[in-house]
Amino acid sequence: MREDQIFLLPGPTPVPPQSLRSMSSPMINHRGPAFKEILEEVTPQIQKIMETKNDVFILTASGTGGMEAAVANFTSPGDKVLVASIGSFGERFKKICERYGTVVDFIDFPWGTAIDPEVIREKLNKDKKREIKAIFLQHNETSTGVINDLKAVSEARGEHPALLIVDAVSGLAAGELKTDAWNLDVVISGSQKAFMIPPGLAMISVSQRAWEVAQKSTNPVFYFDLKQYKEFLSKGQTPWTPAISLFYALKESLQLMLEEGLDNILKRHRLHRDMVRAGVKAIGLELLASDEVASPAVTAVIAPEGIQVNAIRSLMQNKYNVALAGGQGKLKNKIFRIGHLGYVKPTDIFAALASLELVLTELGLKVDLGVGVRAAQRVLLERSGENAHTS
Ligand code: PLP
Repeated sequence: MREDQIFLLPGPTPVPPQSLRSMSSPMINHRGPAFKEILEEVTPQIQKIMETKNDVFILTASGTGGMEAAVANFTSPGDKVLVASIGSFGERFKKICERYGTVVDFIDFPWGTAIDPEVIREKLNKDKKREIKAIFLQHNETSTGVINDLKAVSEARGEHPALLIVDAVSGLAAGELKTDAWNLDVVISGSQKAFMIPPGLAMISVSQRAWEVAQKSTNPVFYFDLKQYKEFLSKGQTPWTPAISLFYALKESLQLMLEEGLDNILKRHRLHRDMVRAGVKAIGLELLASDEVASPAVTAVIAPEGIQVNAIRSLMQNKYNVALAGGQGKLKNKIFRIGHLGYVKPTDIFAALASLELVLTELGLKVDLGVGVRAAQRVLLERSGENAHTS
């Protein structure tokens, strides 16, 4: 495989050269001043990206570790919890919650749609005894390419005391997420998505209300004990040996992100989403999610009748050096996914669409060559016109 492939997965995502280079720096003592400096630099920067003043911790774990940390710290066995799912990562939250002995009310919205906040409102209104302790949900459901309206879900919760626990592993810094303004108690993210670094770090924010719950949790938590993280953070350390090289990369990527600015980052993700969607539609393919709920991180495309997803993906990879993702869970062999998250540029999208047109032609579909690329170009041109107009 060539090293310079066009890498359009919804995670891991391409890593900027300066972040990659930083990882070849020598090791430092994670109990010494140099690591303290890095930790104390990156932690408030992540708070900025999460739009929060809540405590934020960086765990050496993949995103699922962050999800497990949330369940382990903020529930107790026997707690009643809601898991609002719109795809495969919603199912993962259910599995983790069940493993920790909570009683799960699983709300399974159709894949390809978003959470209906009214369903949440109704469930909570009926819970007169306030037995529901937490609501688990995704910000962005990577398996279907759908983004949830977290603000609306938070409003639907109203005065109900249940914690709102959000998996924003693939959504943070791709779609809008205002932790404090929307009263999100716990927000989880992961390094290999919009943070543009390799897999291995999970970030988690904790509200005051969530801390109060954690004090009473009866789960036997050790590695993910966030109270330990808080104690060690005050000394500029993590409780256990951190993935130091990933912290080097995180520092570089956060610098890039803050130079670009959060608003511009979100605008760029919307642009890439709209370029991909316009291109794919123009080619004549169907998208899984409607425009209203379309993810700014990843687009799920329904494979055309009679053409195998694997045939599309392997030709894209082997002939044109473009990496795309397949479907997960019940969408396996039904969809392929184009990631447009993190360090992706418009020319990557042009290349992917041009290659897709050729691949589909080779597989027997009638495609007007160039039609997808032209549609994406038009979106880019219109948007740069907007920028020129407003700047
Ligand atoms: N949640 C979402 C929405 C994700 O997209 C992912 C990874 O793709 C995860 C959780 C799990 O993260 P990881 O694979 O890093 O454990």
